[in-house]
Amino acid sequence: MTLTDAAHGLEARHVWEPPTALRAADPELADLLSAEAERRANSLQLLAGENLATEAVRAALAGPLIDKYAEGYPGHRHHTGCAVADATELLAISRARALFAADHANVQPRSGTSAMLAAFAALLRPGDTVLAMSLEHGGHLSCGSRSNFSGRWFDVIGYGVREADGLVDLDQVRELARTHRPKAIIAGSISYPRQLDWAAFREIADEADAYLVATAAQITGLVAAGVVPSPVPYADVVVAATHKLLRGPRGGLLLCTAELADRVDRAVFPFTQGGAAMNEVAAKAVAFAQAGTPEFGAYIRRAVDGARGLAAALERAGARPLTGGTDTHLVTADVAPLGLTGAQAERRCAAAGLLLGKCAVPFDPAPAAETSGIRLGTGAAAALGLGAGELAEVGELIGALLSGGAPAPAAARVRELVGEFGATGDR
Ligand SMILES: *Cc1c(COP(=O)(O)O)cnc(C)c1O
Repeated sequence: MTLTDAAHGLEARHVWEPPTALRAADPELADLLSAEAERRANSLQLLAGENLATEAVRAALAGPLIDKYAEGYPGHRHHTGCAVADATELLAISRARALFAADHANVQPRSGTSAMLAAFAALLRPGDTVLAMSLEHGGHLSCGSRSNFSGRWFDVIGYGVREADGLVDLDQVRELARTHRPKAIIAGSISYPRQLDWAAFREIADEADAYLVATAAQITGLVAAGVVPSPVPYADVVVAATHKLLRGPRGGLLLCTAELADRVDRAVFPFTQGGAAMNEVAAKAVAFAQAGTPEFGAYIRRAVDGARGLAAALERAGARPLTGGTDTHLVTADVAPLGLTGAQAERRCAAAGLLLGKCAVPFDPAPAAETSGIRLGTGAAAALGLGAGELAEVGELIGALLSGGAPAPAAARVRELVGEFGATGDR
């Protein structure tokens, strides 16, 4: 399985050695990067938003477009010498449109958050009312945090999930939309493990005469592989990310209707950004091509099947997976039944090389710095080649650690797993 992946350039393992030029110019920094490579080789990465960029993506990032200034859009640049930059961006755009069946794509946003800023800029004016998932229930900071542009410049009303089953409360969304008449409704989350009912959100948005923005950074790779319903046919604007499940470069992506294309483009450049990073655009083009391969589909299915097994193992160990399981690569679990806070659980797992994140659960009684939950994603593990069997075992290792088990045996098994699967990659 990983051998096939390697043959198709989707190999995951990068025990990185500093190139001679870097070692010579800056030994101090070269040592730091070696230490980071070492850290990765001895731990299993289960943070929900992190992944392993493919070898081909890394190559494109380091290629000659790293130096190119190309402000504007293909055919309308402010700089000369842009023929290759134009062709590259057009390729990235056409691949993104085909992959996501979108009318229009903007591949220039430098991050998910800057893509969100551009989406707000395209559709709204400061002071407008927006309805978004509350941060306490899994909304991203760009969905109304007071320390972010969204909460500072916009009047953001939060909706949430039902306490009984942890599912998005669409009745509450509808009621809040009727009461507050938002100019935009934002659907999407960083920790919600289930599919969203895009059609229902569209209906509510239509009734309120609001734009629908899908903030789908977390699930972009799942949408590309067709394992969860796509927001593209329903949303006016979709905010996506290329560095999470897609295994591309760190960056954002905007998909929208033909009608909004000009507004979205102008909101990215020149409103929120200057020149795009053309090497990132090139690497995005590579990631979109790779996401269309059968190997990518197999990797995504490993991630989703693995997350299900992992959630079941955590439940057997006494944690409480939110919504009772998952439809995605995400597992969010309440660890309070085990007598732990999220921060304690995170530290216990980290001591064994299992890197997951503490996470507030809806209606969380614990302080924000502690939380009652943990959040895991199976993307990087699936990219290494771990399948459902291995990820269920990882769930058991985590369960044992959370129940007070010693870290040493789990750490040994983690190194074995990472070594075994990493060995078939490009090490
Ligand atoms: C990851 C994520 C973002 C932010 O992406 P950055 O590239 O870190 O800015 C925004 N919204 C959601 C839902 C995300 O999952």
